[in-house]
Amino acid sequence: MVFETLDHTGHEQIVFCHNKDAGLKAIIAIHSTVLGPALGGTRMWNYATEEEALNDVLRLSRGMTYKNAVAGLNLGGGKAVIIGDASQDKSEALFRAFGQFVESLNGRYITAEDVGIDVNDMEYVYRETEYVTGVHQVHGGSGDPSPFTAYGTLQGLMATLNKKHGDEEVGKYSYAVQGLGHVGMEFVKLLKERGAKIFVTDINQKLVDRAVNEFGAEAVGLDEIYDVPADVYSPCALGGTVNENTLDRLKAKIICGAANNQLANNAIGDEVTKRGILYAPDYAVNAGGVMNVALELDGYNRERAMRMMRTIYHNLGRIYEIAERDGIPTYQAADRMAEERIEKIGKLKLSMGRGTPRFQGRIRGN
Ligand code: NAD
Repeated sequence: MVFETLDHTGHEQIVFCHNKDAGLKAIIAIHSTVLGPALGGTRMWNYATEEEALNDVLRLSRGMTYKNAVAGLNLGGGKAVIIGDASQDKSEALFRAFGQFVESLNGRYITAEDVGIDVNDMEYVYRETEYVTGVHQVHGGSGDPSPFTAYGTLQGLMATLNKKHGDEEVGKYSYAVQGLGHVGMEFVKLLKERGAKIFVTDINQKLVDRAVNEFGAEAVGLDEIYDVPADVYSPCALGGTVNENTLDRLKAKIICGAANNQLANNAIGDEVTKRGILYAPDYAVNAGGVMNVALELDGYNRERAMRMMRTIYHNLGRIYEIAERDGIPTYQAADRMAEERIEKIGKLKLSMGRGTPRFQGRIRGN
C-alpha cells in the first residue's frame, strides 16, 4: 500500500521517526534530490490520523520539488511533519530528537520552519544537526522571510502586469489584498509606495486600521473583497479562495498574491483561463521565502537575497511563455517549467557530480 502510493507520487524516501521518551512521532518525506538536497519546512500539526499526516507530508514534499525547481534553486523537494499539538506538546527533547533524525539523513533533507514551528524550536533542532535553514540571525541565519516574500510577490506582479497589459506601472492599477499579516501588510506598503489604489480586508481589525491609517488603503468586509472593482485580486491569507463561489464575483483580470494553494482545484484553474483572467501561479510568486532560506547554504547576505527575489520576475515570464507555447493554463505551465528544469539540469548535475551544501558563514553552538 505504501509503495503503491510512492510509485504514484514518485517519492524517493519516507522516514518514520519515533522516540517514545521524547514523545516524537514524525515523518520526513523526500520527494526528489535530483536537483540537490531536499529542502522543505517542518510542520507541527495535531493530525486526526497517521494516514492524514502521511498524506499531508507526501503532498507538501512533492510541492517543494516543484517550487524549488521553478525558483531556480539547486535543491530538491522534501518536507517533514511532527504529529502533535503545537500549543502543548513542544519540548527541547522533542525537537532535539527530531534533529537527530534530520542529521541521520546526512544532508539529503534540509529543514526549515513551517506552520506550528518557530525560530526557537529550530534552535533545538540546530543543536543536533546543521541541516537546518531559517535559523536565527545571531547564527548567521536569514531571519523573517516575509519582507522578501512580499518583494518577490511584487516582482511576480510586475511580470504579470507586463504580460496582461504590456506595462509594469504598478501604481496605475487597483488591488484587492486579502490578508494583512506578515506578507500582506508589507505588500500593501510596496503597492502604496508605487501610488496604487488598494482595497484591504483582514479578520484582525487592528491590521486593517493600520493599512488604512499608514498606507491609505480602503477597508472592506471579509466577504466584500471578492466584489470590489479592483484590477488585481491578491490573496495573502488562506488557500482555496479562488473557487466556485468566488470566481463569478471577481472583477479582477489578474490574480497574483502570496497565499499558498490559491486555486480550489484544477477545474477552477481551467475556468480562470477561459475567462481571460491571468493567474500568476502561487508557488512561483511566493518563492521569496524559500529563496531567502536557501541562501543560508552558502553564506547569507541580504543584498544577494534581494537580487535573487528579482529572478521571480523572469520565472513568471518563462511560465507565461510556456503557457502560450503549449496552449495550457498558467498553473500547468508552472509545473511544466519545473519538470523541464528537473529533466535538463538533473542530467547535467549527474554528469558533473552533485554539489553538497556548505553552510558558510554560520555559527554553530550556543
Ligand atoms: P500571517 O499569518 O502573518 O498572515 C495571514 C493574515 O491573514 C492574518 O493577518 C490573518 O488574520 C488573515 N486572515 C486569516 N483568515 C482571513 C480571512 N478569511 N480573510 C481575511 N484575512 C484573513 O501569514 P503570512 O506569513 O503573512 O502568510 C500569508 C500567506 O502567504 C499564507 O498563505 C502563507 O502560507 C503564504 N506564504 C508566506 C510566506 C512567508 O514568507 N511568510 C512564504 C510563502 C507563502
